[in-house]
Amino acid sequence: MSKTVENKPIDRLEHYQQMSDDAAPSGVAVYRAAVEKWGVYDQIDMAIEECAELIVALKHCKRGRCGGVEVAEEIADVEIMLEQLRVVFGDAAVDTVKQRKIERLRELVEG
Ligand SMILES: [Mg+2]
Repeated sequence: MSKTVENKPIDRLEHYQQMSDDAAPSGVAVYRAAVEKWGVYDQIDMAIEECAELIVALKHCKRGRCGGVEVAEEIADVEIMLEQLRVVFGDAAVDTVKQRKIERLRELVEG
């Protein structure tokens, strides 16, 4: 994704202004509230940190130093931060790219 994001209040982002709570999937309100409370750049930093924690947990799991519970916790953290990144960068852009990549994966899997 080549789009950059400014560290301005979330309610000044164009796609944010176009979002309605009615159209938003369940749970989105809390993700939006988190971005509003802590700001775009802090939540991007948090997403980076959570991704790093998942990487560490996966490496530890491979070495037998932790179990599935610890990995599950880090997966949940990353998923929560990914939802907030969707708020920041825009749901529609992610969905469009994701659908294309899923189709590509399907082709690879099914040969
Ligand atoms: Mg974590």
